[in-house]
Amino acid sequence: MSFSPILEKDVVTWTDKKDVLVVGFGGAGACSAIEAFDNGASVAIFEAASESGGSTKLSSAELYLGGGTTVQKAVGYDDSVEDVYGYLMDSNGPQADAAKVRAYAEGGAAHLDWLMALGVPFKMSEYPQRAMMALTDDCLLYTGSEKAWPYVDKYKHAPRGHNLYVEGDNGGPLFVKIITEAVEQRDIDIHIEARALRLIVDAFGPEQRVVGLVVREDMQERYYRANKGVILCAGGFVMNAEMMQQYAPELAKAGTVPIGNPNDTGGGIQMGLSVGARAINMHEGFLSVPFYPPATLTHGIFVNGQGQRFINEDAYHGRIGCYLVRQTYPVYLVLNVEDYADYETASWLAAPVAGTGETVAELAEELRLPDSGLIDTINTYNLAAQSGNDEQFHKSKEWLKPLTGPFVALDCTPGAGAFLPHFTLGGLDTTVDGQVLSVQGDVISGLYAAGRTACGVPRRGDGYASGSSVGDATFSGRRAGRQAAIA
Ligand SMILES: Cc1cc2nc3c(=O)[nH]c(=O)nc-3n(C[C@H](O)[C@H](O)[C@H](O)COP(=O)(O)OP(=O)(O)OC[C@H]3O[C@@H](n4cnc5c(N)ncnc54)[C@H](O)[C@@H]3O)c2cc1C
Repeated sequence: MSFSPILEKDVVTWTDKKDVLVVGFGGAGACSAIEAFDNGASVAIFEAASESGGSTKLSSAELYLGGGTTVQKAVGYDDSVEDVYGYLMDSNGPQADAAKVRAYAEGGAAHLDWLMALGVPFKMSEYPQRAMMALTDDCLLYTGSEKAWPYVDKYKHAPRGHNLYVEGDNGGPLFVKIITEAVEQRDIDIHIEARALRLIVDAFGPEQRVVGLVVREDMQERYYRANKGVILCAGGFVMNAEMMQQYAPELAKAGTVPIGNPNDTGGGIQMGLSVGARAINMHEGFLSVPFYPPATLTHGIFVNGQGQRFINEDAYHGRIGCYLVRQTYPVYLVLNVEDYADYETASWLAAPVAGTGETVAELAEELRLPDSGLIDTINTYNLAAQSGNDEQFHKSKEWLKPLTGPFVALDCTPGAGAFLPHFTLGGLDTTVDGQVLSVQGDVISGLYAAGRTACGVPRRGDGYASGSSVGDATFSGRRAGRQAAIA
């Protein structure tokens, strides 16, 4: 499919003209349409699917926000903007965007209030267990590696994952219902089953301005003019096998599973590239080994094909996932049977049992691991657990517990049955206000991007925290919407 732009002068009839055209009615698109409208722009939003939502609707809609949100304060956490900033800059590594992280840290609390004003409900409570999302109707949860090495001693931690006030893992549909209603309550033109195909520019080359959009709807190609700007909020590219092979082959290694909506095919990124935008960080993504709950599995150790540990197991599941795929396979999670708990009913991991044993030697034999390797690893780990000091990998005392058997090992090797999901974190390079940048680093006039079409705050799989994608998508969508409206 060609995404090449067409020239304004070649448009015979404009179907309609608006100040701002938004591509994609997921989390980023809805929020950018609302903000553009509330800042005085006339707005139309185009969604390829037959309803709003995209991946945001499939998600838990957990939002990573801090710096003293209403819920954090109500529960008694004293979180600071500087601790959020420090943690996000550090965990997103050298590719972190300081301006975006600064805006997100400073604006996180106000963003939650804005969502609450739209009607998104949050209970003033905390879910204190180690889990990927709150499994009750509680709100606050630790969703990154804040309490784990290497971050725990550097930044004061607080729970920043905000789960909606809804029983269980049902945040996405409720979140999308509320933001969809907020769009519908405004005089915004909504086009469903309308796929944006190409951008329209006033000229080709560096002096170009993006002035519209070609859209396929009702089996026709229609031409929409944008007086102020086009905002690309079309999600990422995890469902585009060709793009994944080209940009992120490591992320899409065999045995891991792409998650997202079927339109996560990179159309927004491709439209940006077609007018000279630069895409950055395209190799990066979230890659999870969702092994908790049950939290007791954190007492176990991950070992690779040599029977060696490779990470502190109290880190965020996405950080562990990124380290896991770099190991020599197989990779096992070795536990005391007593910590297996309700794994079979509570876990998303679905890793099969690879072996059991009364002794380490028995287990090593069933796993076909070099038994001296596994014995040495477990002896070293047990000494660390007894002393409360894991010198090798710095697992916190809270989760250190000797492995005394009887043992069970779960097979977490990619391709062996475990569910190891991934999605992308690369996208169009933008300013903090969503203006798309060219390969030369200049603003492309009239073009904006937000959510996973852009490269935002979350930039590394090994530093990812749950909630930072919906958090960033809705936050960046709002900034792009406002900027396009006031341009
Ligand atoms: C199962 C699951 C659970 C997750 N849980 C969380 C979580 O709890 N917290 C978190 O932060 N992240 C989570 N994520 C990730 C997160 O949901 C997404 O990264 C985020 O919602 C992306 O938002 P977006 O607005 O950029 O894209 P989307 O919400 O996917 O919206 C993009 C929209 O654009 C439309 N579109 C695409 N191409 C076109 C086109 N050419 N024309 C018109 N429309 C088009 C799509 O149909 C889609 O509706 C989860 C993801 C999954 C799959």
